[in-house]
Amino acid sequence: MMRLPYFNYHAPRSVREAADLLAVAPDETMLVAGGTDVLPNMKRRQQVPSTLVGLRLVSELQQVAEGDGLAIGSGVTLTRLVNDGRIRSAYAGLWQAAAQVATPHLRNMGTIGGNLCLDTRCNYYDQNYEWRKAIDFCMKKDGGTCWVATSSPKCLAVSSTDTAPALLALGATVTLVRADGERDIPVADLYRNDGIHYLTRMPNEVLTAVRLPRLDGWRSTYWKLRRRGAFDFPVLSVAAAAKLAADGTVEAARIVLGAVSSRPVEAVAAGSLLVGAPITDDAIARAADAAAQPARPMDNTDFSLVWRKRVTRDFVGYALRELRGDDMREARRRVARQELLAVG
Ligand SMILES: Cc1cc2nc3c(=O)[nH]c(=O)nc-3n(C[C@H](O)[C@H](O)[C@H](O)COP(=O)(O)OP(=O)(O)OC[C@H]3O[C@@H](n4cnc5c(N)ncnc54)[C@H](O)[C@@H]3O)c2cc1C
Ligand code: SF4
Repeated sequence: MMRLPYFNYHAPRSVREAADLLAVAPDETMLVAGGTDVLPNMKRRQQVPSTLVGLRLVSELQQVAEGDGLAIGSGVTLTRLVNDGRIRSAYAGLWQAAAQVATPHLRNMGTIGGNLCLDTRCNYYDQNYEWRKAIDFCMKKDGGTCWVATSSPKCLAVSSTDTAPALLALGATVTLVRADGERDIPVADLYRNDGIHYLTRMPNEVLTAVRLPRLDGWRSTYWKLRRRGAFDFPVLSVAAAAKLAADGTVEAARIVLGAVSSRPVEAVAAGSLLVGAPITDDAIARAADAAAQPARPMDNTDFSLVWRKRVTRDFVGYALRELRGDDMREARRRVARQELLAVG
């Protein structure tokens, strides 16, 4: 059985108190919300903070407030998000992403803040201490070499959060609070393409809220590739959002890829290609080709990287067809049933 290492624990009741506790020794302290990522990581000694600051008792972080959009406290669980009709109707892409994170049990504990700050993943890192020790560790923790690309100067571990690509496509922002101030930044600016320093959040900052703008006339969707539909992390995901005029002309569009890099990647050129015309099959093919360009999957997660790169185009196609109103979920279920019958 893997045991947690010893650590100090604080349970503040306000954001202010949490930020003050973080400010004491930010590099040795970690926040814990649902604990579904950080606690297993501590058991595997991937993360070994001497102090944990628990956020479960901070009621300010549990609120969902309506204004000119929606402000979601970082401590809101994924189950609450999935059960919130406002999110399902106005921000379908976020709803679909949250509904596909892990399992019901993990969504009951896991929060939106924890999901956005989720550690990056890699086959050489997501192992217990003894396994990692046997390969002399790696650059992300305790070692000096990257086993995925031995000449790489940086870690290439994969961003595996489901909600971040969806929030990026929806143009969301986050609020970060520290003892002596706070700032709002676009979700896109929360991430860096570096498997170790994957967040621009400073160690003394608490992510307190996610803010979604009002999106009249927008539709959004999220498609996720994983081996087991019941609970696996994404090995490719596509979030797409578009503003459509009454005649179907695209007025604005964003396509974001997840799990293809150490951060979510917006396929800017692909989004621009859609603007000014309806989402026809030709437009989808052009945008899907352009969107697959920035996908740089590495050989450090499930499935072959060549195949993952190839199906990026297909997944962008499913997302865009769904945006224009096709029932893609049912279409994909039909294909899966036919494939099963052909095998059996
Ligand atoms: C078997 C399994 C399957 C999983 N599958 C998926 C999946 O398919 N998709 C997916 O996205 N995730 C998956 N996860 C990961 C995890 O369950 C979710 O990402 C969850 O949302 C994390 O939220 P949490 O509140 O539990 O985070 P925690 O574990 O509490 O924290 C995660 C990280 O965020 C930091 N943090 C937490 N709250 C804040 C805050 N307010 N401000 C700043 N930093 C903060 C913590 O310090 C830590 O670094 C899986 C986990 C397991 C064990
Ligand atoms: S990408 Fe390289 S450095 Fe990063 S976790 Fe994997 S093996 Fe380690």
